[in-house]
Amino acid sequence: MTNQNVVISDTKSGFSMEIVVSMREPVLFAQAVPKPLAAPGGGTPIIWTKPSLKVLETAGGGGRINAWVDSMRSSSPPRRSSESEEVNKSWMLHHPSALSMFEEIIKVSKGKQIVMFLDYDGTLSPIVEDPDRAFISNEMRDAVRDIAHHFPTAIVTGRCRAKVYNFVKLSELYYAGSHGMDIKGPTQGHRYRKGNQTVLCQPAREFLPMIDEVYKTLLEKTKSVPGAKVENNKFCLSVHYRCVEEKRWAELAVQVKTVLKDYPKLKLTQGRKVLEIRPTIKWDKGNALEFLLESLGYANSDDVLPIYIGDDRTDEDAFKVLRKRGQGFGILVSKVPKETNASYTLQEPYEVMCFLKRLVEWKKSSLRRF
Ligand SMILES: [Mg+2]
Repeated sequence: MTNQNVVISDTKSGFSMEIVVSMREPVLFAQAVPKPLAAPGGGTPIIWTKPSLKVLETAGGGGRINAWVDSMRSSSPPRRSSESEEVNKSWMLHHPSALSMFEEIIKVSKGKQIVMFLDYDGTLSPIVEDPDRAFISNEMRDAVRDIAHHFPTAIVTGRCRAKVYNFVKLSELYYAGSHGMDIKGPTQGHRYRKGNQTVLCQPAREFLPMIDEVYKTLLEKTKSVPGAKVENNKFCLSVHYRCVEEKRWAELAVQVKTVLKDYPKLKLTQGRKVLEIRPTIKWDKGNALEFLLESLGYANSDDVLPIYIGDDRTDEDAFKVLRKRGQGFGILVSKVPKETNASYTLQEPYEVMCFLKRLVEWKKSSLRRF
């Protein structure tokens, strides 16, 4: 078991909550995003609108609900592209498809152990109206099973670990649920498993009673907003507003804000059509990635190539860790241009499946050669 380096940030007085808001400001695209390994072609940088992360404080119950709703809107862009063709082209130039760059990725993996990290919603399963019905297809499950047969593989998700396991049903994987705050290793049949131990890391364990209490309160409070869905992810909560009419978003924001007022040790972040409530500990998907690499014996190794595939803002924490380590690649699943620390892109879960299958085929053929 690895020591958990957890810092608890405690708000000293009154209500002070941080919300991450996406603001748009013009910057030069080429300066905003680090280049991947080798972007094909050339091209002149064009003006881009960079969604910079800005902290919006709602202190003292001052309201600012309009800013909240703007934030909810900006963090949930429609999946269809409204950007111009030129902007799309430039984005793809700097974040090319992981399928078209497959050979380059393989070249870099030479002599290294590939470790796969996969987000769940929007990466292995389609984004659906009802989060309880975000099923993985049998074909995708087979692809993930094959990947895990050849490489250590982890699912890293904001969801409750048990719920994602019930979707995926593969005991040979690592699962990092609740944004990495609940990590468990393979329960059987994995050659990367160490001895009889399954990795287990729960840095926010002390928050469980509080999360449960807030879950019950939010369930009650949000009953009056049709379509609102509160999901208990064990170490964090999700308030889904995908099915809520936009004119009622402000009402929902007030309700969530009112509840969180009494819990300064919880913070709020936003995902795709979801408000996420989490403990204020310094632990995210990036920490989970590092914890798992360390557990696999690659803490300070140059012989590893982590590949992380995800579609959400919360996956950026993991992409950033890879950038910082100078190791491996982040692959963003998106059809629309977004600022990202990922090197490559894939458009949708189908392309993720194609990438996984191609990796397995390459591995099989390389094993046949040697
Ligand atoms: Mg996702």
